[in-house]
Amino acid sequence: MLRKHNHNLAQTRSDVSWGMFINFMNYKLQQKGGLLVEINRWFPWYKICSRCLYQISEMPLDVREWTCPSCGTGRDREENASKNIRAEGIREISVLEGLLLFAQRTLGKEGK
Ligand SMILES: [Zn+2]
Repeated sequence: MLRKHNHNLAQTRSDVSWGMFINFMNYKLQQKGGLLVEINRWFPWYKICSRCLYQISEMPLDVREWTCPSCGTGRDREENASKNIRAEGIREISVLEGLLLFAQRTLGKEGK
């Protein structure tokens, strides 16, 4: 019971720390005219080959490098994950830009 309670407390602290980090990053980016894009942090970005998008089923934490069984590319776990996260951020920005363009066109037509 105590262990579960401590786990929940640690999770809450972790969530608060993450929230503070995101708020700080958002503040700094807004100062510079940037845009913060949050992606799903629980998605297994490290399990997907950033070259061919093959998803490996298991990836223990101690595996730091792996070879994609589909394309044969050697992957560094963190570098591969960072490439996938960057690509997802760019994809989400593209979606946001598309929605903004759609809204501008739709609102523009309503105003005429
Ligand atoms: Zn691959």
